[in-house]
Amino acid sequence: MKLTEFRAHAHRMVDWMADYLEKVEEYPVRSQVSPGDIKSQLPKQPPQKGEPMDRIFSDFESVVMPGITHWQSPNFFAYFTANSSPPSILAEMLTATLGAQCMLWQTSPAASEMEDVVTDWLRQAMNLPDEFKGVIQDSATSATLVALLTAREKATNYQGNDKGLFKLGQSGDSLTVYCSEEAHSSVEKGLKIAGFGKENFRKIQADSGFAMDLPKLEAQIVEDKKAGHKPTIVVASIGGTSVGAVDDLTGVGEICQRHNVWLHVDAAWAGSAMILPELQHHLKGARYMDSFVFNPHKWLLTNFDCSVYFIKDPVALEKTLALIPEYLKSPEGRTVTDYQNWSVPLGRRFRALKLWFVIRSYGMEGLRSILRNHLLWAEEVYTQVSQDPDFEILSPLRFTLFSFRFAPEGVDEAKLTALNEQLVNTVNDRGHIYI
Ligand code: PLP
Repeated sequence: MKLTEFRAHAHRMVDWMADYLEKVEEYPVRSQVSPGDIKSQLPKQPPQKGEPMDRIFSDFESVVMPGITHWQSPNFFAYFTANSSPPSILAEMLTATLGAQCMLWQTSPAASEMEDVVTDWLRQAMNLPDEFKGVIQDSATSATLVALLTAREKATNYQGNDKGLFKLGQSGDSLTVYCSEEAHSSVEKGLKIAGFGKENFRKIQADSGFAMDLPKLEAQIVEDKKAGHKPTIVVASIGGTSVGAVDDLTGVGEICQRHNVWLHVDAAWAGSAMILPELQHHLKGARYMDSFVFNPHKWLLTNFDCSVYFIKDPVALEKTLALIPEYLKSPEGRTVTDYQNWSVPLGRRFRALKLWFVIRSYGMEGLRSILRNHLLWAEEVYTQVSQDPDFEILSPLRFTLFSFRFAPEGVDEAKLTALNEQLVNTVNDRGHIYI
């Protein structure tokens, strides 16, 4: 494509983008297509000759758009938030244009140094201890995997990488992993990949407030130690996915400290709210944490992908992940941060740029006031639903999340689940809102 054409198309598409954001509320929130509808409109064979952009774009509008679920719609209440914002989108356009591969400091010094700075801005905004260093991962799942791998290596005196876990396990002991039953499934996915084995996974019961039951956690750790296992890592949650469960960081942290166990905190969704001083009491036990992840790509107006991972001991992280073959050596050596040593993939996008755009454009005060509005609006809905006699609250409001069901008087308990499934499907099929 000639650059004159690129310029013209880009201008047109930016207009389309602004129009889309202006009228996103007019689309059915959840895509209304049926399985196979989109595929049946896409040619089975690739085009042999190039096609004009006008035709490609017209198909984008007529074929692709009906198959899009509109996560940026103000009527999207499903799963979790995945906010973007105009400044973040602008930064993504520049990132795509630069097409920089930011694996080493030298392959884009600005990316590496900005990542260092913007993650530290967020650390300060959350009032996390100075010793935490930040790195941007592609997802919370990857960040939790990195925590599991680092904890595994620290617990084996960095032997896991060298000897392999099967060899280490010959003595019969195993490395054990703990989280509450309310924790996100990424913990289980991570421990499978990191070689802990599902048999060594301990899902600790939650108490009546949905927090990890502390006496049960400690009892399980003690029992595992007696059986010759090595308790290795506890993953605590701030804002679990189902009901927004929050674990007592200080309580969990004291147990981890007593038993020399890594403490990782998954705050993927609710972590963004930790920039609000009035919610920072959830981080009171932060000094006990070894690592912490939250996703600006969920609730801090930043496009997917952007997961900020804080770690207290980056040396342990590098000892676990760093690999510097001849072709990745650069003269700066260890005087700079090559973030490829801090994450699983080698290749890295310039993710810090969108955070820099977002934070500068709104300022921390602006971001705080947006989040406070979200919290207030959730409170309003919560009050309305609680006061409606046909609805029953199942879990209390945490941040912006609560769960409820339709439970009109006189309907048999056995029929309520089917009735609620029908309600959800009917609402989502209508397309006005997505729950
Ligand atoms: N942890 C929690 C608490 C989540 O809510 C989610 C996603 O909803 C994840 C982890 C996984 O996040 P990601 O998609 O960034 O891997």
